[in-house]
Amino acid sequence: MSLIERIKGKLNKTQLSPNWPGLIEAYKPWLPVSEQTPVITLKEGATPLIRIKSVEAMIGKNVEVFAKYDGLNPTGSFKDRGMTMAISKAKEEGSEAVICASTGNTSASAAAYARKAGMRAFVVIPDGYVAQGKLAQALVYGAEVLAIKGNFDQALDIVREMAVNYPVNLVNSVNPYRIQGQKTSAFEIIDCLGEAPDWLCIPMGNAGNITAYWLGFKEYFEAKKSKKLPKMMGFQASGSAPLVLNTIVKNPETIATAIRIGNPVNREKAIDAKNSSQGDFLDVSDNEIIEAYKLLGKEEGIFCEPASAASVAGLLKRKNEIIDGSKIVCVLTGNGLKDPDCAIKNNDAIFRSNLEPDINTIAKVMGF
Ligand SMILES: *Cc1c(COP(=O)(O)O)cnc(C)c1O
Repeated sequence: MSLIERIKGKLNKTQLSPNWPGLIEAYKPWLPVSEQTPVITLKEGATPLIRIKSVEAMIGKNVEVFAKYDGLNPTGSFKDRGMTMAISKAKEEGSEAVICASTGNTSASAAAYARKAGMRAFVVIPDGYVAQGKLAQALVYGAEVLAIKGNFDQALDIVREMAVNYPVNLVNSVNPYRIQGQKTSAFEIIDCLGEAPDWLCIPMGNAGNITAYWLGFKEYFEAKKSKKLPKMMGFQASGSAPLVLNTIVKNPETIATAIRIGNPVNREKAIDAKNSSQGDFLDVSDNEIIEAYKLLGKEEGIFCEPASAASVAGLLKRKNEIIDGSKIVCVLTGNGLKDPDCAIKNNDAIFRSNLEPDINTIAKVMGF
């Protein structure tokens, strides 16, 4: 193979983004779609894998740590990977409306893709517990927003029953097509690194994403596209850790609202991913989450959601167990712009206000 061919081969998927067709077209042979499936895409996927050296330095060993920055998807979270599949299949089945329960990102994504497909999008959310950016998205994308005086788990119970009794298609991660779309992130990681990582660190809410990554890693492994499988390391917020505690949490509480879920629907599959991969689950406090969130922002230029930072917080908490020479990927599930309130309350920035508009004042304040 010539050098040009090799470069082209390497470039074909992730780097030539103007030609990126969206993940269904890119990974068609791996997905349950046919020529009849109308592909509803916003060109999701092909998100960057970014080396995060400040985290490596804190681990203090010879390791390579990468962030899979899925907050760069079209609506700002990994939910788009599952939604392009779920909505394309709903369209294929002739659905005219979709419904979901959401802590925010599912509703933003469902609304964008459903409206693009010409369908109605009903989103049921816990009133007062959805970050501003996510609510703004659902409204702008044309969703019909139903805020309940209850939490996510109650919202999910309602929409599951709705989908049985009324002509609405459920697009929560109990929808198997969501998992299918989301598994492509594992493919991208292997396509990019040339091998599976040793650890995959990921936040868990309903645990659909850890289920999807495990499926993707297994499929590529079986197809001999990787020689190993990663340990699946799942992290939850301490106030919302039903998988770590092996229980149901009645009133989950955490600053990381995207993972404020007390009764994950994919519990069994997540436990299987952990056990089969010799991985582990652990909880991280809201403080540890915020420390990781701030570190990623100010040392790496990566603004992620608090829920996403749980993957880095968890990795740092387990750093003593990391073997020298390891490659680790932390999944950053959502974009920090989704939750501006959290950002404004939690940062170490110097912010001087009320300054006179003249150069002498400014120079003095700058320390010159
Ligand atoms: C949905 C979501 C999660 C949790 O993913 P699950 O598949 O429910 O475990 C984590 N982070 C963000 C930003 C999310 O939107």
